[in-house]
Amino acid sequence: MVKLPIYMDNHATTRLDPRVLEAMLPYFSEKFGNAASRNHAFGWEAEEAVEKARATIASLLNAKSKEIIFTSGATESDNLAIKGVVEFYREKGNHIITCVTEHKAVLDSCRALERLGKAEVTYLPVDKYGMVDPDDVRQAITDRTVLITIMYANNEIGTIHPVAEIGKIAKDKGILFHCDAVQAVGKIGVDVERDGIDLLSLTAHKIYGPKGLGALYVRSRGPRVRLAPIIDGGGHERGMRSGTLNVPGIVGFGAACEIAAAEMAAEARRLTDLRNKLQAGVFERLDEVYLNGHPTQRLPGNFNVSFAYVEGESLLMGISDIAVSSGSACTSATLEPSYVIRALGVGEELAHSSIRFGLGRFNTEEEVDYVVDRVAKEVKRLREMSPLYEMAREGIDLKSVQWRTD
Ligand code: PLP
Repeated sequence: MVKLPIYMDNHATTRLDPRVLEAMLPYFSEKFGNAASRNHAFGWEAEEAVEKARATIASLLNAKSKEIIFTSGATESDNLAIKGVVEFYREKGNHIITCVTEHKAVLDSCRALERLGKAEVTYLPVDKYGMVDPDDVRQAITDRTVLITIMYANNEIGTIHPVAEIGKIAKDKGILFHCDAVQAVGKIGVDVERDGIDLLSLTAHKIYGPKGLGALYVRSRGPRVRLAPIIDGGGHERGMRSGTLNVPGIVGFGAACEIAAAEMAAEARRLTDLRNKLQAGVFERLDEVYLNGHPTQRLPGNFNVSFAYVEGESLLMGISDIAVSSGSACTSATLEPSYVIRALGVGEELAHSSIRFGLGRFNTEEEVDYVVDRVAKEVKRLREMSPLYEMAREGIDLKSVQWRTD
């Protein structure tokens, strides 16, 4: 028997790994020192723990310790990278290149700069799999471009962008490349040297670490990246991010990265198998289901799918013992279909019927079997109540129907 409810929303957040919790616990109690207290043993102990975690995090990215700046999460890292670069390099230019399926932390940072008149932004489209074309990046570059910001892997559809190609283009043109790698770090190999990344955002809570703890990788050589801080204060983190460090959180982040480095390859294989089983099960049991995202260049645990003739929100309510996400975000009174799914060229109806399954470390094969069965039954039940599905089954072309509006 599987234990309910089942958590399958691992792109939203992940459960803290018990090994991470264990590593953190002493730093909430007896090891409580401030890492910036340079003149006593409590401070030295905290600083040592922070520096050990920093080295572990850096090594997962093939970076150097001093290139890791701790933040409150990837939202702050994205803000710091984008706003910090635009502010520091304003003499050089003000043009940013990004893409329409980025996380809001990137898009809204860009929009905020546009609103203030501090930047001009090019939002590149994606193909039907959600992938950006490196040629589009190349063509968008102007002599005012200071930053390219493209994510590693998308949080809704799992599509992995051709990051190394984009990194090479940026390098050839002498433009800084920021990558929001929140969903990729610890799941697939990320290497700032191989991928030509100058700034990289990551966060602990997507890799079985604590919430509220993130980092920004800032390249120190070839080129040395400079940033204007967005938080001023005591000059912590080499002046780029002031504020007393969250020592237990940082220790947890380090532990999470250490586990990821050791287990990532095997875990990716296991999650790919589980995901493929989930996908195959859904496709076998149901007609009119459509994959959102890239068939192969996709995160191991990601399965985003549209069930035609079914409202994603109704499906979510019907399978309330399974925690997944729908492609509709409740904004005030209206249900907006996901901008990421819409960017693939998917129609509004199919976007509304999309569901994101996010498999993670603690999911089991039994859970996948349960989910396939539960979802297939619920989709069939909802479709039985759908006149549109009935009409489509009878061969009526719904686009040709003239609906009465009175
Ligand atoms: N970027 C991406 C791609 C994400 O998936 C998330 C998490 O939702 C974030 C940024 C924001 O991260 P955080 O929750 O650490 O602020």
